[in-house]
Amino acid sequence: MNRKEFFKTSGWLLASSWLFGRKPELRLKKEETSKKGKVKVTTRIYELHLRQAWTLSRGTWTTRRNVLVRLEKDGIVGYGEAAPIPRYNESAESNQAFIAKALPILEKDLWEYEERGKELEQLLPGENAAKAALDMAILDWIGKSLKIPLYRFFGLDKSKTLSTTFSIGIDEVPVMQKTALAAKDFRVLKIKVGTKDDKKIIEGIREVTDRPIRVDANEGWKTKEEALEMINWLADKGVEFVEQPLPAANLDDYRWLKERVKIPIFADESVHKSHDIPALASAFDGINVKLMKCGGLQEAMRMVAVARAFDLKLMIGCMIESSLSISAAAAITPLFDYADLDGNLLIDNDPFRGEPIKGDRLQLSDRPGLGAEPLIPDW
Ligand SMILES: [Mg+2]
Repeated sequence: MNRKEFFKTSGWLLASSWLFGRKPELRLKKEETSKKGKVKVTTRIYELHLRQAWTLSRGTWTTRRNVLVRLEKDGIVGYGEAAPIPRYNESAESNQAFIAKALPILEKDLWEYEERGKELEQLLPGENAAKAALDMAILDWIGKSLKIPLYRFFGLDKSKTLSTTFSIGIDEVPVMQKTALAAKDFRVLKIKVGTKDDKKIIEGIREVTDRPIRVDANEGWKTKEEALEMINWLADKGVEFVEQPLPAANLDDYRWLKERVKIPIFADESVHKSHDIPALASAFDGINVKLMKCGGLQEAMRMVAVARAFDLKLMIGCMIESSLSISAAAAITPLFDYADLDGNLLIDNDPFRGEPIKGDRLQLSDRPGLGAEPLIPDW
């Protein structure tokens, strides 16, 4: 993202903040009646309720409005989910509008899923969460048609799945301490920082646990000097690595920082798709790949290939998502070094039944497709 886009996005963030205060809403947007051989696509906006307020360096949320997709063809149903990212000008409505616009693409042969993916990418720039939802629904439909789980479709070894970190949002230190203690099943914690009280937060966490921790500043530190001082302080507190300490576009500052810090730095907001990776390979030690940010499983796997060519470490992350899209991301964890896929654990009204996590270990379902079933009536 260049500087101009960054400022444009900041404006959108303010404009879209009202969305999250709206009442719970579950509605049917568009339905195409279908006959055999025809595709029928339905979308719903579904409001996920967070178990506790979720605060990052750029805002606080108690709910998130995701878009659920149901794609039916030849009696088989594939499901997808979009978690729109306001940071990138997306809303549930804009994701839904993209899906409505994509219907002519979905009416083509879904077995040519790579072609459909390219067409979705070319349809409009952005709206990557919507693209991820459609990619997910198509691959769920293919897996169910073949009666095989997605990890087998991709040729992966399920024994190589990973443990996930548990993420702790910014809050009063005693609240964060309590959350850290409650998350006793998780061997590694991910702590959100990016405030003026970051040292107090980490000291507070260290008072209650000596488990390994990873830190995500979500672009919260503003200068390279501040970031350098903080990261090397964090290294002495047993922090394994730091994610996105500085604003996304400051790649020169990241190169400066990388030469001086004691622990690895991962890109999250700085990296979206595979074509971003060559330019930032000299600025980071690893990247955080998210389905919602990159546009789906197919692009996530291209990112893995490019990142490995540049000798970068790989993490797979998520937004606030149901167990449907966490199951999708879990299916490709054998390709990654680290996982941060706890989005479904942070909500209390999961619209799907899947079991993507046991203890802190991601599980790859042996059910066909994504292996998650809807809990919404008539869906
Ligand atoms: Mg992050």
